[in-house]
Amino acid sequence: MAIIVQKFGGTSVADAEKIRRAANRALKAHQKGDQIVVVASARGKQTDQLVADAMELNPNPPKREMDVLLSTGEQQTVSLMAMALEAMGQKAISFTGQQVQMITDDAHSKARIQSIGAEKLKEKLADGCICIVAGFQGVDPNGNITTLGRGGSDTSAVALAAALGADYCEIYTDVDGIYTADPRKFPSAVKMEQISYDEMLELASLGAGVMHGRAIEFGKKYNVKIHVRSSMNENTGTIITHEVPQMEGIVVSGATCQKDLAKIDLVCVDHKPGNAASIFAHLASHKVSVNDIIQTEVSPEKANLSFTISRSDLGSAKQAIDEIRKKVYCESVFIREDIAEVSVVGVGMRSHCGVAEKMFKTLAENKVNIDSITTSEIRISCLVNLEDVDAALTSVCDAFELDKPAAERAQP
Ligand code: ADP
Ligand code: ASP
Ligand code: MG
Repeated sequence: MAIIVQKFGGTSVADAEKIRRAANRALKAHQKGDQIVVVASARGKQTDQLVADAMELNPNPPKREMDVLLSTGEQQTVSLMAMALEAMGQKAISFTGQQVQMITDDAHSKARIQSIGAEKLKEKLADGCICIVAGFQGVDPNGNITTLGRGGSDTSAVALAAALGADYCEIYTDVDGIYTADPRKFPSAVKMEQISYDEMLELASLGAGVMHGRAIEFGKKYNVKIHVRSSMNENTGTIITHEVPQMEGIVVSGATCQKDLAKIDLVCVDHKPGNAASIFAHLASHKVSVNDIIQTEVSPEKANLSFTISRSDLGSAKQAIDEIRKKVYCESVFIREDIAEVSVVGVGMRSHCGVAEKMFKTLAENKVNIDSITTSEIRISCLVNLEDVDAALTSVCDAFELDKPAAERAQP
């Protein structure tokens, strides 16, 4: 008997018919003899609506209250799904994050899961129930409701799969797998049969919203096999798994772009040990997550420090910088919001040269100016003007032939 976690995203539970369809899928799997835990998101665009409701009353809502509000979306779905299953004659029970002891830290709106109490779920599964757990939410050690960040139900699902020792975790969504690029932005993108955790983690953290990045971290750490597939058909989707040798033959697996960024330049900071540590510790104390950091020496006494953050953290980042800039003798601060990032990712890059050259040449031919470049072993990212990023993504996808199955692409 297998334990399977099935996660249904917002579009897959948007209305009564879709909830029934999702419930039916869980029921079929249960009837095969497996134990099923469903993780559900808020219906359709409900989370966006709740955000809008909050903004109408307070443009800067207290984060604790925001999490209390946003967690209600998922709570509605799980009870409705349990009712749908009961109407089909199947025993079902819903749980909030708190009820499954989804313990997180206290970083409201981007909390990290610390532990999960799976006992209650196991008891109910053994009793023949389908368990339905509210995604995206947890509770901090003081009993405050927290949320895991937008798109965070994926993380709830994979973390639960790890805690339960599930055989696999199915992510049901509105695309039938992971594509070489977001099919909404590059319509001729092709579906991948499988992708490594490392590549998916890079793609997710660089803007591929199809999976929440933390979900992939859990998957890799606890060996959870993840299957991303469509809730509208039975087709096999994409398996996210450990790297297998064939993957190295694929030089560039996918491309992404990220638009919700801001870049901060700290110009002529005193160049002495401890300054970078003070700046980033201070940003962390304001719960600002920093993406890429570039430091360059301008003289023996001074250095420039640039970094990117999510635009939603800009208010907190500005406050942190205002507080710390005198201490680190920073001469001036520049902030750019009209910036975006285009990236290519692939484990095969490790053993192939020429990927960077091809990417820069393609951007140049398309008259896209590169503001700055960052790389890892398996990715290359370029910051570009926000207005150029769509064209940049398309040109990069074309250059690396991301409209063709991997086996048909020319090597760079
Ligand atoms: P859900 O509500 O099911 O969690 P999301 O909207 O979070 O669904 O994720 C699915 C969407 O992710 C797709 O509709 C697609 O536009 C987007 N997406 C971004 N990058 C990719 C990619 N590389 N492959 C597939 N989908 C992608
Ligand atoms: N409902 C939340 C959101 O819209 C979480 C999720 O869907 O994963 O971001
Ligand atoms: Mg999602």
